Amino acid sequence: MSYYEQRIPPVRDQRLQLADSFSGSAGELLDCQREGCLMRKSRSFWQANACQMSLTLMMAATVAGSVIVMHAPGGCGAQLLAINVQSNKGRAQRGQPPAPLNWISTDLSEADVIGGGERKLEAAIAYADREFRPEIIFVVSTCAPNIIGDDVAEVVERAKSTAAAKIVGLHCPGFKSRVVASAYDAFYHGLLRDIPFEPEAWKDYVPLDQADPRYEMEQARENYQKAHTVNLWNATSIGYQDEDEIKRLLAALGLDTRIFAEYASLDEFRQISRAALNISMCNVHDDYMLKFLEEKYGMPYYIAGMPIGFSETRRWLGGIAARFGLEKEAARLADHEEKLAAAAIKPYLPALQGKRVLISGGVVRAGTEAAALAELGMEIIGVKAYHYDENARPIFEELAAKLPEVHVSVSNQAFELTHQIKTLKPDLVVTHNGTHGLVAKLGVPSVQLFSADGAFFGYGGFYQIMRKIHFALGNVNYQERLAGHVRQPYKDWYWSADTYTFIKE
Ligand code: SF4
Repeated sequence: MSYYEQRIPPVRDQRLQLADSFSGSAGELLDCQREGCLMRKSRSFWQANACQMSLTLMMAATVAGSVIVMHAPGGCGAQLLAINVQSNKGRAQRGQPPAPLNWISTDLSEADVIGGGERKLEAAIAYADREFRPEIIFVVSTCAPNIIGDDVAEVVERAKSTAAAKIVGLHCPGFKSRVVASAYDAFYHGLLRDIPFEPEAWKDYVPLDQADPRYEMEQARENYQKAHTVNLWNATSIGYQDEDEIKRLLAALGLDTRIFAEYASLDEFRQISRAALNISMCNVHDDYMLKFLEEKYGMPYYIAGMPIGFSETRRWLGGIAARFGLEKEAARLADHEEKLAAAAIKPYLPALQGKRVLISGGVVRAGTEAAALAELGMEIIGVKAYHYDENARPIFEELAAKLPEVHVSVSNQAFELTHQIKTLKPDLVVTHNGTHGLVAKLGVPSVQLFSADGAFFGYGGFYQIMRKIHFALGNVNYQERLAGHVRQPYKDWYWSADTYTFIKE
């Protein structure tokens, strides 16, 4: 049975070769994967890890006309209070009106954990359907129901026959995966099983009889539009400015762009199958969904890293253009845009060149941005990827070719980041959201590796990256003073040990 036919999606640990503990070079990492030792690596000490469910919630909360039913103890959905603010900001940035984030929880108690919570879940789904009249109800299955054996998938199936809304099961018990990226698959699995991706007669078009004189013209119009339309897949870390930049560049090649799946509605989901190509903006986000669309609708897909920096943006755009026979146009476009962007960033370069940079965060961004900054003369002293899976292999192959000497680690552990900054003393850390306070306490300036409110992709995005780095390096007074007043919670022996002393096979 294919994964897509299963009621419950696989976690990435089952579907892909992956790793979360490694220290060496990019070449050694690739060798280690080939030989199988990468997957056997672990740690004798872990400080923290992330829950995949929270990432799935961030995506679900953006879908228009939806309600979220948490099947969980009260605490599991708590971050929805903050996610609501972020998703409404995202809506406003995309010109959509603000919307309330309606979510309810089955609030599992100790008695429910003993006696089972399925009846509570049935009642919660019926209440959400009756009270809010949504188009979609996301039913989120978390750790507790999976530990006690509630059949959430069966409850979801039964609810489909009585509810007016589309019922979408999002199965994401945090404990089942060591890799938070399983969240993307959980979200997409729910969509692809329970949401229609084809246009509907009378809702999306008026069906014409073949004898109707307008029939051929309408068919030709539809075929032309489909041949010049692409779907661009966004996910959590990709903001509206990046979507706009890619849309702008693809429009210059004569392509229309539709964006999925965040900030889309049920009506928009039905347009997914009406495009010539599915384009991913990150190797670890979308392969699960894009392979499904290829299997079901014969739609080709394009997954080829991220368009960050001049070389990567040129290569990325060129790869899309090649699918439409537009290689020459893409090369001309890249020449023109590079000329403009190079002139814009030129004033910043003298202050940046030669600066020692450590990069930490999502595997594709960290690897791609490292190569882009090195190209402009910054010295990359380390690339720390939060996880590694086989979809990211091309990124490390490129790193191995371009920066063979640079230290590469696979780690999402705060103590290892702290140790590396303290011992390597970089001039700048480019790092994942949520870690800037940690970096500042070590006396080092940092910039965001990503932000849904910022621009990173294409030419406009690269200019913004340069500006932010220039600004961060301009005045480090705050970080230096802060570091002077902070006591680190580590024993002295740890500073003299190897950063990755806890990694074991
Ligand atoms: S790890 Fe499990 S219990 Fe913790 S927040 Fe995530 S789903 Fe809830």
